[in-house]
Amino acid sequence: MLVGVTKEIKNHEYRVGITPAGASELVRNGHRVMVQSQAGAGVGFTDEHYVAAGAQIVPDAATVFAEAEMVVKVKEPQPQECRALRPGQVLFTYLHLAPDPEQTRLLVDSDAVAIAYETVTDDRGGLPLLAPMSEVAGRMAIQAGAKALEKSQGGAGVLLPGVPGVPAAKVLVLGGGVVGVNAARVAMGIGAQVTILDVSLNRLKELDALYGPNLQTLYSNRANLEEALGEADLVVGAVLIPGAAAPKLITRDMLTLMKPGSVIVDVAVDQGGCAETTHATTHQDPTYIVDGVVHYCVANMPGGVARTSTLALTNATLPFVLQLANKGYRKALEDNRHLRNGLNIHRGKVTYEAVARDLGYEY
Ligand code: NAD
Repeated sequence: MLVGVTKEIKNHEYRVGITPAGASELVRNGHRVMVQSQAGAGVGFTDEHYVAAGAQIVPDAATVFAEAEMVVKVKEPQPQECRALRPGQVLFTYLHLAPDPEQTRLLVDSDAVAIAYETVTDDRGGLPLLAPMSEVAGRMAIQAGAKALEKSQGGAGVLLPGVPGVPAAKVLVLGGGVVGVNAARVAMGIGAQVTILDVSLNRLKELDALYGPNLQTLYSNRANLEEALGEADLVVGAVLIPGAAAPKLITRDMLTLMKPGSVIVDVAVDQGGCAETTHATTHQDPTYIVDGVVHYCVANMPGGVARTSTLALTNATLPFVLQLANKGYRKALEDNRHLRNGLNIHRGKVTYEAVARDLGYEY
């Protein structure tokens, strides 16, 4: 199969859909890989790296869309990319169609086959192509929070690990899923005192078994949250109710319980955030202060560490790319129901129930 990779054109997106290592894997499996010049430049993969891996470099995206049988990307296609798709061409990337009627209509009109990373499933009921970005965001939350605690950022001037004779800071993680556990791991690793709060007792039991006395677990209810907020130096928002807006666990009033200069890193901002005072920010201007509490609410945290994110994402996507290339998309979807769950649009029809329902398409 001829597999194509284009340079991402969404604002400040530096990730790339296939690395040189992935290209080399495809070539070894008997495929051709066509890469738009500079596609990986933002994360340190030069055209020469791709050529050494056996890929062919072409000057523009138009050539990739005109010739490739499958295009592998990172972000949802922008309108000009949707219009460049050919009937029957396979597109494998993040789509997030439910809140995006325009992209959905353009993809339906393209007559292409659009498979979304975010709805591919695994045997444990997880979302294996979304998890790597949650891992990145969770770990990064502590790095971002540590910086925000510095005086120059409006923080209390607290060092997370403390020093001999000075206690470590207290980190409170709301939600013990993929983001939460990764945040907790880094916070424990740096030497902070970490508490994780979740509504799932089973999840708290698992975390207790994994981390023992290094991690305090706390059941999520209002009284426990209020008490923990009063003590925390850094709060990480990591709750998720699948398919729904994040619950507003931290109300505006609760900010007055928090210490001046404490920090909320609300990773759940992409689902509206778990604090009432959350609004989305950017890597250029990541923080703002409400009632003395520093808020960091960057909606695309993984984009800030695009190289690590590219490697993490492509580690997870490549096995599926190989299945699609080796078997052809029809057989690959037939053989793997988890990959089949990624199929959102097929030749002019919406094939993912929630998207069809939300946007009024026949299913
Ligand atoms: P997850 O499903 O793995 O974990 C969510 C956890 O929240 C679960 O353990 C669940 O039991 C818990 N929870 C639900 N309601 C709760 C409540 N009322 N109190 C306490 N805990 C509660 O989800 P995840 O992959 O960890 O993602 C968390 C959030 O981070 C999502 O909104 C996701 O979209 C977001 N995210 C944001 C970025 C970013 O760049 N900002 C990147 C990746 C993920």
